[in-house]
Amino acid sequence: MLDFKLFNIPVRIQPLFWLGAFVIGGGFSIQGREGLITTLLAMAAILISILVHELGHALTSRKLTRVNPSIELVAFGGFARPNTHLTPRESFRVTWAGPLAGFGLFLATVVVLIGLFGPADGFHFASFVTFPWTDGRASDLLIMAEMNRHALSFVTTFLWINFWWSVLNLLPVFPLDGGQIYASMEESALKVFRVGMITAGLAALAFLYFRMPIGAILFGFLAYQNYQRQQEITGGRDFR
Ligand SMILES: [Zn+2]
Repeated sequence: MLDFKLFNIPVRIQPLFWLGAFVIGGGFSIQGREGLITTLLAMAAILISILVHELGHALTSRKLTRVNPSIELVAFGGFARPNTHLTPRESFRVTWAGPLAGFGLFLATVVVLIGLFGPADGFHFASFVTFPWTDGRASDLLIMAEMNRHALSFVTTFLWINFWWSVLNLLPVFPLDGGQIYASMEESALKVFRVGMITAGLAALAFLYFRMPIGAILFGFLAYQNYQRQQEITGGRDFR
């Protein structure tokens, strides 16, 4: 357990957070000292990215309510507690602020790359790293050769997480941010969990297709969770 304050907001990091970051950072396939450094850098990129995402929620919540929120990082993510009641309108803004903070950090990284390597090359390099199935240019290979290996692996993880986690977080899957936004607009809870189950199931299949087993397990679990919530409703039990 690690406790500290950031912008006067209490932050608690659960031990399982480090395990999750280790797994996502490729900890199971470490080979030698270089591999260990790469994983540690990826873990640092994950820590910063998730903290900034949760700070987006927390700072917006404090700005709107003047009540100090708190942040907790758990395995494979985190959450910000407003510590007060939010109106639906406030809640909507607070929920959006997390993914928007992630996209903001992504854009800031792209701007740094543009500053380092010029507008055309820096921008192309950022988009090539974020969408690795697109064609690389000679300038991308040149930048990769020029960059320190560790800096390259940090920047790659950082761009990836801030772009793709923000996108995934906006999928209409409860309790992800997108699922909460969807739930605030849809009256039928049954429909919210049904859409969540189908979307998470499709995402899990996509992860399998791209051979990313951790993503497949995570979204498979979310699909199951949404299925369970539906069962609770149709079983006539209370749900929260
Ligand atoms: Zn969030």
